[in-house]
Amino acid sequence: MTATQTLEKQIARFAPVEIAVPDGALAGAELDVLKHIIQAAQAMDTLFMEQVWTGNPALFAKLSSDTSPEGRARRHYFVINKGPWSRLDHNQTFLPAEFGVPEKPGQANYYPADATKEEVDVWIGSLKGEAKAQATGFFTVIRRDAGRKLIAVPYSVEYKDKLAPAAEHLRQAAALTAQPTLRKFLELRAKAFQTNDYFDSDMAWMELDAPIEPTIGPYETYEDEWFGYKAAFEAFVTLRDDAETKKLGVFGSHLQGLENALPIDPKFRNPKLGALAPIRVVNVIFTAGDGNRGVQTAAFNLPNDDRVISQKGSKRVMLKNVQEAKFQKVLVPISGVALNATDRSKVSFEAFFTHILMHELMHGLGPHQIQGGTAVRLALKDTYSALEEAKADISGLWALQQLADQGVVSTQIAETMYTTFLASSFRSIRFGITEAHGKGIALQLNYLLDKGGFTVNADGTFGVDNTKIKDAVAGLTRELMTLQATGDYAGAQAMLKSMVVIRPEVQRVLDKLTSVPVDIEPNFVTARKLLER
Ligand code: ZN
Repeated sequence: MTATQTLEKQIARFAPVEIAVPDGALAGAELDVLKHIIQAAQAMDTLFMEQVWTGNPALFAKLSSDTSPEGRARRHYFVINKGPWSRLDHNQTFLPAEFGVPEKPGQANYYPADATKEEVDVWIGSLKGEAKAQATGFFTVIRRDAGRKLIAVPYSVEYKDKLAPAAEHLRQAAALTAQPTLRKFLELRAKAFQTNDYFDSDMAWMELDAPIEPTIGPYETYEDEWFGYKAAFEAFVTLRDDAETKKLGVFGSHLQGLENALPIDPKFRNPKLGALAPIRVVNVIFTAGDGNRGVQTAAFNLPNDDRVISQKGSKRVMLKNVQEAKFQKVLVPISGVALNATDRSKVSFEAFFTHILMHELMHGLGPHQIQGGTAVRLALKDTYSALEEAKADISGLWALQQLADQGVVSTQIAETMYTTFLASSFRSIRFGITEAHGKGIALQLNYLLDKGGFTVNADGTFGVDNTKIKDAVAGLTRELMTLQATGDYAGAQAMLKSMVVIRPEVQRVLDKLTSVPVDIEPNFVTARKLLER
């Protein structure tokens, strides 16, 4: 295989897909407002690329000037990864040695390229008060002054040339919109780009109530592999999905009833559920920066500023059309390999997405404290996250069955949700079983196989046994919630140890999935149309 063919194969793991909203959805939106927000969002791509590695801007220019098929493939994969390292392949570079690409720097471009982690750590340790807050803050980079001493430089200074035009587009959008909460957010976010104080605009983002729901600015800290302090620029330009939002409202009104019926000892049920954290269902028009690299973001929880969270909570945003694209391009092909012919026809996006919504809601149900008031999180320590993710999944299925029995959820969802969940398990497990979601999925898959709810056919495909699946789902819901209610750390450890494995029958299916895409590469057709206006 030639180098270009190898590269094309790496790229093919991301299935190209058009990300659009139906024309009808745009009717209520303000098109020129959207256009300016998209233009501001485009700056987040450039900013993020600069944050990933100091060598990125020059390398990107070099790759862009090579119009040979090989050059175009390199540029293409660079854009997917926002740098010369393949994020799906443990950040190995995909460029040949002559490009002189180093290993992906753990400090990104947040700390000086010639600094060591120890040097920065010692320096931060020597600081106090406001100086320390600045050095460890979300919105500063660490640089050297003329005397080579480390200093904290605000984003508003470091990235001034790119933030100023972005702020200008946000102001123009603010001037054009008729939506007061949107105007407030856009104005305050534009101001934050120049003052470096994001608090007021984060608060305004929590109060957004408009058809256009933009998220733009520095947010997640994953790219800072040294300390996790520094926020990466990203943007999600989206439209609120009112039909799904209404569905959430309906589910919300049934949550206490579900809690009261949980298949656990009644003394573990919560007689009075707290207020719901806000959830927004949106459709993406454009994403950029940290929100559009490697595997695509399908949902996020923001902001990360503890001061905002303590006053306003945080908001969960679900990107419906992105989830649908992943469903069509990844989940459907997986079900073609993993499921038998009968079950394959019972895989539906409706069930897939409704279960994801229910998963989010179910995080709020079930035991959160053990007797005596200790938080379950503290009692279950390192086992907590995997168990909590598995709980939200499995009790989500249990809850949907309850709602289907009451006629709240359509029978179509009830008839397809177990098969859809089975296919979706294979999608998740492909990403590995080292983090909480993967562990939770392995646990559920193996439990449901042991209880006969899921079955393995003679040809190696998987199926659902409708006579056993309901009891198996209720049984696992009970076991997980009881471990949580009693804070049974040893029991949780034992369960994870025996159940978080990839069994041979599962591995055999995974081995057959090598040519199925891992994720999607979005082509923002609606955004392009708007930009051409
Ligand atoms: Zn979750």
